[in-house]
Amino acid sequence: MGNVGFAILMAGYMRGATPSAGLRLWMWARLGIGVSQLAGWARPLLGLPLLGSLEGIGWILAVALEMAAYCVFFGFTRWGRIVSPVTGLSCAIVIAAGAAGATHAQLSALVASVVALFAAAMAWVLLRRRHASLLQRIIGVNDALFALAVAAWASSTLQGDGALDRNVAQQAAYLTGYLLMIVNGFGFLLLCKQKDDSRMAHLATTDCLTGLPNRHAFLERAEGARQAAQRQRQPLALMMIDIDHFKQINDRWGHASGDDALVVFARTARQVMREHETIGRLGGEEFAMMLPATGLEAAVQAANRLRLAVRAATVITSGPSYTMTVSIGVVVLDPNEDLGDALARADHALYAAKREGRDRVEIGDPLRRRA
Ligand code: GH3
Ligand code: MG
Ligand code: MG
Repeated sequence: MGNVGFAILMAGYMRGATPSAGLRLWMWARLGIGVSQLAGWARPLLGLPLLGSLEGIGWILAVALEMAAYCVFFGFTRWGRIVSPVTGLSCAIVIAAGAAGATHAQLSALVASVVALFAAAMAWVLLRRRHASLLQRIIGVNDALFALAVAAWASSTLQGDGALDRNVAQQAAYLTGYLLMIVNGFGFLLLCKQKDDSRMAHLATTDCLTGLPNRHAFLERAEGARQAAQRQRQPLALMMIDIDHFKQINDRWGHASGDDALVVFARTARQVMREHETIGRLGGEEFAMMLPATGLEAAVQAANRLRLAVRAATVITSGPSYTMTVSIGVVVLDPNEDLGDALARADHALYAAKREGRDRVEIGDPLRRRA
């Protein structure tokens, strides 16, 4: 009933939304598990032997769907490819065993073994990844416990009154099955939410053309770096960078090629930057860069390195390739200076570089002289 409840909730959630393929498979899996278990429960009440076979096949199909949902979610195409043949083979074996006159206990043990195998495979998929999140590990451990309990139950069913107490094994399987419904039910939803949240955070902070931090993200990081620099009494250099005559690039080579030029600039900047430096796209063809623990002389050298690298980079078009240049304004943050004031000084220096003929680096006026 719990599984069916989850499936109904998910159907309601997905109506009007654009859910991932993994979530849709997962909903059908929960519905399948719930319905097949209800069929097993109703079989003795209704006296319909057909329900017994439906329960087994339905359970295998539903667990296979759950496995497929994980494969789609994590992008495991190799695992995904073997789910269908393994499911088909398992169903064929169960049907053949039924046709060959296997007892209900033997069929139940066979179905439980297949379900345990799928649960073990899910545990493996979730636990083998070195960077698996805590949430993934919790769900994986739960799958592993369920696999063990169901395998023990299958074995106790076959052994009759053998080594394993059948009642204890059945209770353990039900308990872990119940836990599985709750933990995996909420767990998969939380995994989806985690993935959506990180996608949203990426979209909100990244410029989609160049892949660089956008204005908001850059300013936030720069403010963090400013506070750290002031605490640690370290210099922080800032650069404002603007591509020269970009309008002419657009006019001559087309807007799409202008976009390519922005991408080439971003790639070149990433190549010449050191690891702890950050560059962001403030808008249009304007970029800003921050260089922690960097004094004015080193910052000017870095700016010239960037300027020369951009000049050497070519933008490929369907016709002839072309190159571009940048003008750069550089400042080092004064103690207790606002980020906005420092960026305004760098912008001032950038426009001085433009006035002086472009393709050059200018140093911003010290704060004292402007005040
Ligand atoms: P200057 O050397 O003085 O900086 O001149 P400029 O032509 O680079 O500067 P201007 O501000 O006159 O023109 C900037 C152009 O950048 C105008 C705008 O259409 C173009 N632009 C802004 N964003 C994009 C973009 O995302 N893609 C493309 N292709 N062009 C853009
Ligand atoms: Mg420009
Ligand atoms: Mg500009």
